[in-house]
Amino acid sequence: MTPNADTPLEGGCACRHVRYRLASAPMFVNCCHCRWCQRESGSAFALNAMIEAERVQLLAGGPETVLTPSESGKGQKIVRCPQCRVALWSHYAGAGDAVCFVRVGTLDEPDRCPPGVHIFTSSKQPWVVLSPGAPAVPEYYKASELWPPESLARRAALTKPR
Ligand SMILES: [Zn+2]
Ligand SMILES: [Zn+2]
Repeated sequence: MTPNADTPLEGGCACRHVRYRLASAPMFVNCCHCRWCQRESGSAFALNAMIEAERVQLLAGGPETVLTPSESGKGQKIVRCPQCRVALWSHYAGAGDAVCFVRVGTLDEPDRCPPGVHIFTSSKQPWVVLSPGAPAVPEYYKASELWPPESLARRAALTKPR
């Protein structure tokens, strides 16, 4: 499922120092139930909307980047509000700075970005019950199996040398 973007998605941190707008719908939304996301969020899962970094427009505030350990060992960059420290998005080693993993909960209307897949369900909390038929995988998946063609094309355009 790709969220519609008839009106732009906007979001920000808790103290409203940082505000951002997404120039289009994200490419895809992952709900990750891995232990790392559980620990880092202090919750049961992380909800990440993947979008080209150039489509994340800062409206206010200058976020700061915190290098944080990740499961791959390569670390992730978590972009946070410098005042209230709420995490707004991350960059992972795989896609690098070109892709933002926007934390869906920081959107003003998070309801517009439901997950397209649940990943790492092998460590999902047992009381988190997925709706029947929701795409779910024990660990990770190939984007080519789940992403809509438009999103795959957007991702391919990112990895092409310019
Ligand atoms: Zn803030
Ligand atoms: Zn995770």
